[in-house]
Amino acid sequence: MKAKPTASNLHPHTGKIPLREREQRHGHRGCVVWLTGLSASGKSTIATELERELFRRGCQPFILDGDSVRQGLCSDLDFSERDRHENIRRVGEVARLFSDAGFICISAFISPHRADRDLVRNLMPVGTFIEVFVNAPLSVCEQRDPKGLYAKARKNKIKNFTGISSPYEPPLKPEIELPTNRLTVMQAVEKILKLLEKKCRIKSVPGKPAGKVPGAIRWSDW
Ligand code: ADP
Repeated sequence: MKAKPTASNLHPHTGKIPLREREQRHGHRGCVVWLTGLSASGKSTIATELERELFRRGCQPFILDGDSVRQGLCSDLDFSERDRHENIRRVGEVARLFSDAGFICISAFISPHRADRDLVRNLMPVGTFIEVFVNAPLSVCEQRDPKGLYAKARKNKIKNFTGISSPYEPPLKPEIELPTNRLTVMQAVEKILKLLEKKCRIKSVPGKPAGKVPGAIRWSDW
């Protein structure tokens, strides 16, 4: 194994653009919206609609999603306890970088362990980690099963599957809880937006349909 560099030999370079200036340009604070919950609870669906709506409002959102990260940054990791911890640690560091750049980083990860989520919270400046508990009962998630994973897990074709053969520790004090068995996707998104208006000072643009932004630049204009 490679020796770790000692802290005294590391000299991170500080740039000349303060976060405040980046945030002024973006028109909102940088933060991390951390969606946690069982598989099929609705994390990716909500993340996608939230990102679309934030973008429509002129914000700078970006999604980090479990499945895509596991194809790249974390493709060397499996679903053992040790590697799940490392997966969240890496994603947390990346989310922090996005937030430092003034983005609204939407992270959609089962992230079953409270300690791992708290580790990410503690990486972040106070008030910039927004934990969202996407909470649907296991029976509902299993019924939805959009990727057929629960069916495979019940047949023992997937090991360490959260909720079936591996534990999920619900957040004790999430900033928001979304019971997606009782809320529509857009009601869930609306709840997050309301909190972001307060915490990240995003602007509310009521009454405009999603999709087209007046005056947006088209690729053909470049
Ligand atoms: P996850 O990312 O948590 O694994 P997905 O978003 O991939 O979950 O899948 C959730 C499934 O549940 C989707 O097929 C979605 O259409 C459906 N669904 C039904 N109601 C809701 C809701 N209120 N919020 C989010 N997803 C919902």
